Amino acid sequence: MSDNLESQSRWENAFQNNYGTPKITLVRGRGSLVWDIEGNEYLDFLGGIATNILGHAHPAIVSAISDQANQLGHVSNLYSHPRALELAEKLKSLTGEASARVFFCNSGAEANEAALKLSRLTGRKRIVSMIGSFHGRTMGALSITGQSPKQEPFIPLLKKIAFIPYNDIAAAKKVINKKVAMVIVEPIQGENGVVVPDFGYLKKLRELTTRRGVLLAFDCVQTGMGRTGEWFGFEKEGITPDIITLAKGLGGGLPLGAMIAIGDCASLFGPGSHGSTFGGSPIACASALAAITTIENEGLIARNSALELTLKLELSKSALVESVRGSGLLLGIVLKTGVAKKFVLGLQGEGILANATSETVIRIAPPLIVTDAQIIRFLEIFRKVASTYER
Ligand SMILES: *Cc1c(COP(=O)(O)O)cnc(C)c1O
Repeated sequence: MSDNLESQSRWENAFQNNYGTPKITLVRGRGSLVWDIEGNEYLDFLGGIATNILGHAHPAIVSAISDQANQLGHVSNLYSHPRALELAEKLKSLTGEASARVFFCNSGAEANEAALKLSRLTGRKRIVSMIGSFHGRTMGALSITGQSPKQEPFIPLLKKIAFIPYNDIAAAKKVINKKVAMVIVEPIQGENGVVVPDFGYLKKLRELTTRRGVLLAFDCVQTGMGRTGEWFGFEKEGITPDIITLAKGLGGGLPLGAMIAIGDCASLFGPGSHGSTFGGSPIACASALAAITTIENEGLIARNSALELTLKLELSKSALVESVRGSGLLLGIVLKTGVAKKFVLGLQGEGILANATSETVIRIAPPLIVTDAQIIRFLEIFRKVASTYER
């Protein structure tokens, strides 16, 4: 039995089946490359589902983590520590808002849970979310996730949540009234297949929520940290939300989430309102600081917009591709036929990791440090796999 197959049977005997059984077992990574237990090499164009913003084993992150582990590993939130202070100050400065205040947790779902709890303290109870959205798997985050197959087995969920079509401002006008506490929206719907709203939609949502005194939360868990060609996925619209949630790329590969509150809502939490034992741990914060510093020093955000153009242009030439949507290095390749899942297995067989969000959409989220040569290699292999469908 091959090593990958042996891992599959061990997996099945040790794990619950919520992920299905992974086909390959990864053992090592460097930059945008990873290797499996049999020594096969892959170009990682999924980056741990958009988490490994600087790829694998980036020297700045490795040394930040090991230095911090050698200094101070964990202290809880009963004590302050320099890395959390530095990171909170840095995130605050990236928002450009003096009133911004940060809460740290460990994941995207937890960041959205924190936003939900914060919104309750306005005294209003209703939440508006979007059809097709994804905000996490815990009960609160699932309650605001607009995908009924994920919700149905787990009802009853939280009440008073309205789901409206994404990118539909008329629908938003009908439900966003003075009883609504918070509207939560992804600047790009990642899990739903990298769905991008029309330019101006988020700004109109901002105007509407401001008029009706409703908190506007941007779930930037997948679109934050420079992935879309800006620090947070909404900046092109020139607006400021009340709440930003972050995770995925934030920790540079370590578990770290944040809920940033801006303006009046930044003072809603008081002692005892909320907490997280591991949230903002020194090692995770050190890793995040190293990631942010590297992204800044190496100009990775601007570069990533240039790569977007190349990828969109080249991928669109394929006869199998309907369109390529997304921003920066978060792209959805929309196929003309429903072969995305098989196509992704084909890519994997040729040494590329990507994922299918549905039968027609392939998502790629390579690390921001992906090299030009690796982009070319990806495009070559994409064409090769596509050609097997074109015959
Ligand atoms: C992945 C994701 C989440 C959930 O993050 P976890 O860390 O898996 O809890 C929430 N919102 C968005 C937009 C995501 O992409």
